[in-house]
Amino acid sequence: PIPRTLLITCCPFEKHSRVLISQDISTVEQIQTSHTNFVANVSHELRTPLTVISGFLETLHSMPDMPEDQRIQFLALMQKESSRMQSVLDDLMTLSKLESSHHREQNKTRISLSLLAQQVADDTRTLSDGRHQIHTDIAPDLHLNGIHTALYSALSNLAFNAVRYAPAGSRITIRLNMENSLQARFSVADNGPGIAAEHIPRLTERFYRVDNGRSRQSGGTGLGLAIAKHALAVHHTRLDIASEVGKGSEFSVLFDVERA
Ligand code: ADP
Repeated sequence: PIPRTLLITCCPFEKHSRVLISQDISTVEQIQTSHTNFVANVSHELRTPLTVISGFLETLHSMPDMPEDQRIQFLALMQKESSRMQSVLDDLMTLSKLESSHHREQNKTRISLSLLAQQVADDTRTLSDGRHQIHTDIAPDLHLNGIHTALYSALSNLAFNAVRYAPAGSRITIRLNMENSLQARFSVADNGPGIAAEHIPRLTERFYRVDNGRSRQSGGTGLGLAIAKHALAVHHTRLDIASEVGKGSEFSVLFDVERA
């Protein structure tokens, strides 16, 4: 971290300025700490599956006469861990693209938000594979100026999380409806486990998970809601989260839309 006192003595202005400078430094420190934490998290996320893979490789190597069924089981586990690494890298790439200048206003095109919401609903059904009761209420002919891939990432992450975290038999409702004459709300509600209030403000942090084991088991990278937050910021909107433990969760977004 930058030595605070050093920077303050470099700027021997009046008292008032010192206060401001001190605040600036703490912002720099925060950015550095968050960068250090991010690198540590990425290393951890990639090291864990890598350790599993190298452990299995070593065992396969040292046991050439291993029974066929056990060998197949080991290979399947290695495959699963390498897919996990692939998902983490794909999500990191998506995040990095969203943060770069890639997503400027001029990259936006006219998109049917109604068709996009329908596509998210169809893909959610495919992912659930009949395990959940999925209901939809999607208003037709709503459009906006946006980036299709970024919006699909954001909205599908919300819906896919409902499938991942709400147990089989739960009800999931995907809606897109006008909220007032200019704005429509996209929402995903489930009657799954819900999220305790203290976690809610941190859910969009990279790699933040309420339950590490459960997230990993469900194939989560811990980056889905961070991606959603960035993708929505590119569209000048944000994620609203309402949840109650034991009752369920609702993730929603308000968009400026055109009706046509
Ligand atoms: P992950 O890849 O772990 O799902 P996300 O960023 O998408 O990462 O979500 C962060 C955390 O928020 C999850 O690990 C999970 O604990 C919690 N979460 C997200 N959606 C839901 C939901 N519908 N119900 C309960 N918990 C959820």
